[in-house]
Amino acid sequence: MLWLAFGPFHAMESQVLVIRIRIPNRGAVDWTVSSGPQLLFRDVLDVIGQVLPEATTTAFEYEDEDGDRITVRSDEEMKAMLSYYYSTVMEQQVNGQLIEPLQIFPRACKPPGERNIHGLKVNTRAGPSQHSSPAVSDALPSNSLKKSSAELKKILANGQMNEQDIRYRDTLGHGNGGTVYKAYHVPSGKILAVKVILLDITLELQKQIMSELEILYKCDSSYIIGFYGAFFVENRISICTEFMDGGSLDVYRKIPEHVLGRIAVAVVKGLTYLWSLKILHRDVKPSNMLVNTRGQVKLCDFGVSTQLVNSIAKTYVGTNAYMAPERISGEQYGIHSDVWSLGISFMELALGRFPYPQIQKNQGSLMPLQLLQCIVDEDSPVLPVGEFSEPFVHFITQCMRKQPKERPAPEELMGHPFIVQFNDGNAAVVSMWVCRALEERRSQQGPP
Ligand code: ATP
Ligand code: MG
Repeated sequence: MLWLAFGPFHAMESQVLVIRIRIPNRGAVDWTVSSGPQLLFRDVLDVIGQVLPEATTTAFEYEDEDGDRITVRSDEEMKAMLSYYYSTVMEQQVNGQLIEPLQIFPRACKPPGERNIHGLKVNTRAGPSQHSSPAVSDALPSNSLKKSSAELKKILANGQMNEQDIRYRDTLGHGNGGTVYKAYHVPSGKILAVKVILLDITLELQKQIMSELEILYKCDSSYIIGFYGAFFVENRISICTEFMDGGSLDVYRKIPEHVLGRIAVAVVKGLTYLWSLKILHRDVKPSNMLVNTRGQVKLCDFGVSTQLVNSIAKTYVGTNAYMAPERISGEQYGIHSDVWSLGISFMELALGRFPYPQIQKNQGSLMPLQLLQCIVDEDSPVLPVGEFSEPFVHFITQCMRKQPKERPAPEELMGHPFIVQFNDGNAAVVSMWVCRALEERRSQQGPP
């Protein structure tokens, strides 16, 4: 079979490229791409993500003429791979041989479940506008590749979210209120994060929580975690949200300022969005800031349901170490209190440790109230000036002013030089940092 329709060599752009994605022990998936030379690294990861929705792929490999594997992790390395591939194609052409597809091997993938994906074909065009949403060929079984988020939201919002359709996989983490699982939603073929919270409450309260959660369907911001639905089964509520393959920021080590700046922009935009809907987050902290390998940053676990917050608080007693001084003292809570939590969270992420040395956060962020008294009594900590830029130090200092009214208002946060400087839409910085960190973590853990 002839894989590439070739014109003259100088017209590479018009050629159709076939990339064969090899899956360990499961054969391969062929992906037809037009405009191959314009293909970006992210496009390839996106398609691998569709083929292997349960795995998190941060890089892939190809083989050189000696059969050595070469890793691709960036657009530059993609270019090198494509130019190597096109040179082999020319050689095959000159020798009158069949032209082989470009074979790639996704890195650090867990084998997908029991789906038969042999012979799947994915057709995408690599034009700038189609990069993020490759068109899937009609030949595909309807549930085998990712549906568009809008489509999925529609399916799920129609009340089709229920326990029977969900297959629980790995545990992503335990919090004070429940456990979060990575799960597979059978009808949509989508991977979700499902938070399960045990709550011994009356049917009446269950109904109240469900109606309070309704507002989540209306939240539509790329800086807020997508909500797909919630349901009660016996004494537990399951809340289904978008899965973020980079997890939460609390598990990353010290984050460099140029990455943290881009993350801060997303967090400030997410908070500003919530505040515009008159929703206070109430639980701003690194474990509620999620990232993915696309470089997106999204907020989760904000307090839309008073009843849910109250019911959890009755079961799990303690005070959150990221709470503003006025909240620790039991005074009124407002937007300014979210701003404090934003400041202390970013200070922790920059330093790689909790900013108050006398507060040891061992497990989770809930502490006995007395241990947090120093936040009320002492001056706020300040980032070391020599180590961080002046705008960053100023941003944190302003957010952590002891007097709530002295902290920046939403528009002042957005206009702060630290935020303005990094508000450049450069998701690649975060994406690359997430991919590298995940790879590092995996290499320390050994093969999957
Ligand atoms: P707390 O209960 O005090 O809020 P927490 O935020 O750490 O603490 P959970 O909200 O239960 O606890 O989350 C547990 C962990 O699950 C998080 O730390 C995060 O790593 C992971 N997690 C939560 N939601 C998602 C998601 N949508 N995608 C990927 N990982 C997630
Ligand atoms: Mg959380």
